[in-house]
Amino acid sequence: MRKKSFTKEKYGIDEYNVFLLALAAALMIIGVITSRERYFGVALMGVALFFAVKALLRVKSKDSDKCRSQNEKFTRDVRYLLNVFFVKPFCALKGGRKYKYVICPECSTLMRLPKGEGHIEVRCPACEKKFVAKT
Ligand SMILES: [Zn+2]
Repeated sequence: MRKKSFTKEKYGIDEYNVFLLALAAALMIIGVITSRERYFGVALMGVALFFAVKALLRVKSKDSDKCRSQNEKFTRDVRYLLNVFFVKPFCALKGGRKYKYVICPECSTLMRLPKGEGHIEVRCPACEKKFVAKT
């Protein structure tokens, strides 16, 4: 009798799952700390359990396409937030008056453009999307 391979069918762990589990753990810790408050701690632990179950269901999911697209959207959103709040301001300080930094609306890649060129058409090197940026 042949053994069934379960690992082939499962989706597995990705960045979104790690984030969900970390969020669940953080909410659980806050829930334990605030468990003396009426219902608040218990409600937080309930939300933490929801995220943990969601992560575990994604690991065991057989719908790989759906999980993969969820993970791509998650990583694109995280990249966008990191670029907007951390990388772009830092690069803008470093680039000074010479360069303007823009974020691709399709894939959130950060691009450096020369300043003072007016409205120019830009092609993203990562996803090939063309868009107009003000420099
Ligand atoms: Zn792009």
